[in-house]
Formats: sequence, structure tokens, C-alpha cells
Amino acid sequence: MNLNKKVVILLDRDGTINKDKNYYLGSADNWKQQLEFLPGVVEGLRLLNQILNFHVFIVTNQSGVSLDIFPNFTEERMHEVNEYIIQELTKQGVRIDFYFACPFVDNAYVEKSKLKGRTLNHKYIINNHPDLKPNTGMADKALAYLNLKKEDCSLFMVGDRYFDMVFAKNIDAFGILVESHKTRELGDTERIKQMGFYVAKDFLDAVKKIQEKVNNQN
Ligand SMILES: [Mg+2]
Repeated sequence: MNLNKKVVILLDRDGTINKDKNYYLGSADNWKQQLEFLPGVVEGLRLLNQILNFHVFIVTNQSGVSLDIFPNFTEERMHEVNEYIIQELTKQGVRIDFYFACPFVDNAYVEKSKLKGRTLNHKYIINNHPDLKPNTGMADKALAYLNLKKEDCSLFMVGDRYFDMVFAKNIDAFGILVESHKTRELGDTERIKQMGFYVAKDFLDAVKKIQEKVNNQN
């Protein structure tokens, strides 16, 4: 591995780390009980932190905050959920450097919501907000947190959706898709393969791919 380069791994959250059952984690008052890590996640994250000692961040779009149907899902709650997830992982021997979360939504999301009869809090409608994946704001924040430039890093992005992989492309990261039921529902996998990114069997397989790529940089 090129020792001058830091390995920085960005992780999507819902559907990648924890189960995504369309419940907008944080919208219900029993959200702590709803949190369930996906198979291979704790094991994989331990490998990253303990063996390779990389930097790891969560980068998550949290559109649920904008929806009027979830009055209790405030920005404060959004932060509480992310902090809790990191705490729970820490208890299991995982280290996550930090998280970045985006409560803003774009016009396309507004249109989609209208079709479902959902209204939104206008405060969170900011078209093309820099933090909204696939825009690069949350990656920029992670690098600023580490006080690193992109050229000094090997960047990886692990996610379950097409836009996570577009985000990977936008930040010049190597993208790894971990399929969730949503990926399959949306038929995203073929498009992602065509981008030259890796489709992992599960989270642990994604981590092994990262290890392999880093070792090949030796
Ligand atoms: Mg996801």
C-alpha cells in the first residue's frame, strides 16, 4: 500500500449497514428497537478498523426529515439516530470516525412525494443541495474532517443504490454495491456493473474487496 495515501471508506447507511424496511428509521418512537444491522456488517467493520485501521464515515440521505407525515422525525432525531448507530457499533468493537447526514430533498423527490399524496416541510426543499447524494458535499466534509485532500486518499464508497454509485463516481472513489431489496426492486445492478464497479455478495465481501484493492496498491 502506498503509505502516503490514507484509505477513506464512505458508507451509505440504510440498506447498507442496517436493514431498510421503508420505515424511515427515526420516524417512529420505537426506532431504537427497529435498528437491525445487516449480516456481515459488524464483522466487516471490525476487519476494517482493527486490521487495516482505515478511516470510516457514514454518509446518509435522510429524506424522511422533510416529510410532514413524520412530525417526530426532526433534524435533532436524525442526529440522535446516527449517534446511536455509531454507539451501538462501538460497543461491538467497531470504530466509525464520524457521520454526515443530509435532510434536504430535491424537486424530483417533491414530485415523487406528491404522487404519493405526501406534503413536505419547505425548509428542507433545496434543489441540488451540495450534501444530497449524488452531490459530493458529504465526501468533502469527511475529507475536511481529516484535514486531507482528495489526492492524498484512496477513496471507497459502499452503498446499495444506483445514486450511491453515481456519488462514488463523482468523488473519484471505487464504488462497491451491496444489493438490498431496493436495489433489486429498482433493477439497478446491471447499470452499476456497467460503471465498472464491484457488486458484492454482502457487506463482508465488500470489505474483502477493499482489502484486495488496497493490497494491490503495494
Ligand atoms: Mg441505502
